Amino acid sequence: MTTTNETVPTADATALGAATGRAVRAAEAHSAHNYHPLPVVIASADGAWTTDIEGRRHLDLLAGYSALNFGHRNHRLIAAAKEQLDRLTLTSRAFHHDRFAAFCSELADLCGMEAVLPMNTGAEAVETAVKVARKWGYLVKGVAPGRARIVVADGNFHGRTTTVVSFSSDPEARADFGPFTPGFDSVPFGDADALEAALTEDTVAVLIEPVQGEAGVLVPPAGYLARVREITARHGVLFIADEIQSGLARTGRTFACDHEQVTPDVYLLGKALGGGLVPVSAVVSSHAVLGVLRPGQHGSTFGGNPLACAVALEVIAMLRTGEFQERATALGSLLHERLRAMKRAGVIEGSRGRGLWAGVDVAGRHGSGSAVAGRLLERGVLVKDTHGTTIRLAPPLVIDEADLAWGLDRIEEVLAGRP
Ligand code: PLP
Repeated sequence: MTTTNETVPTADATALGAATGRAVRAAEAHSAHNYHPLPVVIASADGAWTTDIEGRRHLDLLAGYSALNFGHRNHRLIAAAKEQLDRLTLTSRAFHHDRFAAFCSELADLCGMEAVLPMNTGAEAVETAVKVARKWGYLVKGVAPGRARIVVADGNFHGRTTTVVSFSSDPEARADFGPFTPGFDSVPFGDADALEAALTEDTVAVLIEPVQGEAGVLVPPAGYLARVREITARHGVLFIADEIQSGLARTGRTFACDHEQVTPDVYLLGKALGGGLVPVSAVVSSHAVLGVLRPGQHGSTFGGNPLACAVALEVIAMLRTGEFQERATALGSLLHERLRAMKRAGVIEGSRGRGLWAGVDVAGRHGSGSAVAGRLLERGVLVKDTHGTTIRLAPPLVIDEADLAWGLDRIEEVLAGRP
């Protein structure tokens, strides 16, 4: 599925190539600096490998934060997109189109649910769920007007919009963006007792990531998701699982909730649903929940467009084979075994994760996680740091075993301080 690493050139560690330097400066001159990208300018990609504007190849161990679960330019997805591009791309929801019904029914079926509300980005799906849960609370649960509350987890990451950062515990995400949207209560992630204690008669929903990605790939204690399911059901509160990063095969199951045989009331999906080609997100639930919306109360010009539906339909078909879930499980075992060995050898401080997804804590002597990512870039590996001294590994699920081992060799080299 991927190509050999034989041809990876050893990048010059001393300086950016001249063309890369120019391109980085040009990008900085005319863009908002709301990201801090590594100094590599990617021009093309295939499978798990990228090629930059100077012809250097890098192994992508980030996969667009799991948006590229099926690899760069997956041929099945490209074919589905091309076929759709030649027929119909956008109608808006003012009219029906011929891919919409199949997309909704297939996605609902994949989730074991009844209904789908398509949007574009992950943050939009979260915003949509907040609106739906509140309205459900007023119309169905009978919460007094204006009092609805939603319980979230400390350390969450659900996106960057005003309402979503209102319940972030990351000061960087919130600073100077207030006033914030009220109505959220935050409890420690993984603590079901704290979660239950935070519920009141006004609580309409619990919103959590089954595995906290941005926080450093934090897997909750065994039994936590099952307890959240039981507690929310008992209290008549919606369980909203944000599977935007953890879902669609990343953890070795279609959904991370599947590890505890749990089905929430609402799934939030995004990232890999668009196959790395187009932004596609969705809120998937029951008619009882999504049925609270009436025409004009929510929507999006691009949400559920024909191109998005065509690509997502192919993503769903690929997920139905189970191949990607199996790859995530098998390759994930190799990944975690290697990381445990690095920990035993004192090369890393620790690691955790599920499936082909890991947070790796590096020792302070290496400087920041971003310094480690910079050194890995020089050796032909793309990773990104999160929260200081953690690097996050989420390779495309199509990565070859040999390529994964090669990337881990580079990580070990850098962290063991080998030349
Ligand atoms: N929810 C989770 C769990 C995420 O990891 C992300 C993005 O990383 C989002 C929501 C936001 O998605 P987007 O960046 O598409 O708005």
